[in-house]
Order: sequence, then C-alpha cells, then structure tokens
Amino acid sequence: MSKEKILEVKGLQTSFYTHLGEVQSVRNVDFDVYKGEVLGVVGESGSGKSVTCSSVMRLLQKPGKIKGGQVLFKGEDLVTKSEKEMRKIQGNEMSMIFQDPMSALNPVYTIGNQMVEVIRAHKNVSKKEAEEIAIKMLTLVGIPSPEERMKNYPHEFSGGMRQRAVIAMALSCDPELVIADEPTTALDVTIQAQILELMKDLQERLHSSIIFITHDLGVIAQLCTRVIVMYGGMVMEEATVDELFYDAKNPYTMGLLNSIPNPNADTKERLQPIPGSPPDLLNPPKGCPFCNRCEYAMKVCLDEVPEMHEISPTHKSRCHLLRSDAPVVEGFVKEARM
Ligand code: SF4
Repeated sequence: MSKEKILEVKGLQTSFYTHLGEVQSVRNVDFDVYKGEVLGVVGESGSGKSVTCSSVMRLLQKPGKIKGGQVLFKGEDLVTKSEKEMRKIQGNEMSMIFQDPMSALNPVYTIGNQMVEVIRAHKNVSKKEAEEIAIKMLTLVGIPSPEERMKNYPHEFSGGMRQRAVIAMALSCDPELVIADEPTTALDVTIQAQILELMKDLQERLHSSIIFITHDLGVIAQLCTRVIVMYGGMVMEEATVDELFYDAKNPYTMGLLNSIPNPNADTKERLQPIPGSPPDLLNPPKGCPFCNRCEYAMKVCLDEVPEMHEISPTHKSRCHLLRSDAPVVEGFVKEARM
C-alpha cells in the first residue's frame, strides 16, 4: 500500500435539519485514504458511515448539510466546490456503488445505453469508442457475451449480474476513488462472495482506492487493509485489519467482535449481542456516544467526549479507559494505555 494520501477527511460534521430539530449524523470525523488501499468503514445502522461517505461524494440528500470540516481529495477541498465542479469529479475521479443496483440503473434504458451515456459524459470519446470501453468493462466484471448483454434492460439481469453491471459502470471512467456502500448486502451469500472476490480482483488490477462501507466484519476481514469503526456519528477506532481483529482497544469494537460467530470456537459459544440501542443523534449524549451501552462506562464517560488515543502509528481508539489516569478494569487491556 502506498503512503500517498488520496483523501483526507478533517473534522467533518454533517447534520440533517428536520422539523424535529438538528440530527447530528456525523460529528467531527477524521480519516485518511491512501492510494490503492481498501479502507473498511464498519458500524451499526445509524452510526453515520453512509452519511459520511455521501458527504465525501457531495451526494447528500436534503435536508442534509455539511456544516463543518474539510474533505481534501488530492489536496483540494470538495466542501467548497460548486455543484458544477463536483459533477466533473463524480463518476470521473470518484464514483459510488450503492446497495441496490436498481437505484443506479434506469429501467427504461438498456445496460449498454446507460454505460455509453456515463462514459461519454465523462470522457471525450465517440459512441463507438464508448461502446468498446463498456464491452471491455462488462468482460472485466465477468458478464458473459457482453456484446449481447449490452442490449438487455436491467430487469433482464439477475441481482448479481445487475451489481456487476453497476460495478462496471462505476469503474468505466477509471476513478481513483470508489465508495462502495454495502454493495453486497442485498445479494445472497454465494453471489456476495463472488462480488467481493470480483472487487478484490478489480482493485488489484486497476489500483483504485476503495472505501467499503459495511456492517459485516466478515466482509472487512476478506477485503480491507485498514478499517475505521463508527458509532454515534464518530470514529471510535481506526486500525489495520489485523490490529482490529486481534488487538481491539475500544469497548464498542470488542462488542462488535463478540457478536459475530467464531468459526474456530470448539464449544457451542453463545453470541453476545450488544445490549441497548444506538444514541438518538437529535439529542446526542454529552460524553461518549457509547456510554449508555458500555459495560465499562465511568462518570467521566457521561460528561466528556473521549479523545482519540494513539496506540501505534496505525492504531487509534477513542476511549477514556486509555487515559493514563483511568482505573484498571478487568477485561480491558491495560498495556494499551498511554
Ligand atoms: Fe465505554 Fe467510557 Fe470508553 Fe466510552 S469512553 S467506550 S463509555 S469506557
């Protein structure tokens, strides 16, 4: 993995201004994406992961609004770009793959028409050249007889094939950054495994950077090099995949890891779901967003948002237990403290 940063998100804040009040969906989020890496973004529903990525792409729906922070893509702040400037970047230098391929496809146009239109909107090529690129991309994503399939409408494709076509479309303009928002969640497990394998293969061949949003830690293990864990609109932990799975330093991450099946367990272990529900971001907690569900919560957790503590150059966690003056708590790894 290169150490060259392609994306730097700094202090990003996004809110939805509803008739009930301000929903603070993304609260001071910081992270970087390096050239050629696959960064996983994991968390429960409502943790802010999709809103963060829609903010990065500037694809927020109203009443959502970026209220602070910077999104530096190759050093340029996307937050300050006009709609027109963003349209040139979206689909060309950055593209997004959504969970439901039908939301990205128009049912009344053929797959070929839609691909050619996308390619010609971003590349200065003739219709014939755009068709050739489309056929090449459909071949690359494993669609058999691509020349014939170009003439099909989306409803003539299976769910897995539609997602392959959407991936082909997203990659057809050689984007440097692809954001994939739960692209396999709507598919059955076999097709899910094929699509993940395909994305891994394409990333290695095309060297794009990918942000992969998921609630599934198994997907993270299979595809990503680094991961950020989001909760209550904040980044709770950032680590390499190995650090996250073998040395998690945040009670929320530990809870997520305990709630997935361990295929190597020799006993019939019960899964341990995290009790309680995520915070209401209309009235976010004053302190740690996880405090109402955390078995280690202390008084300070109710009053102060924990800072990010650096555990290693690649590993950071947001938890008061990592402070040097925190009490020793059984079950939480003491040597991680600063
Ligand atoms: Fe739990 Fe407190 Fe750490 Fe939050 S800061 S994860 S509530 S111990």
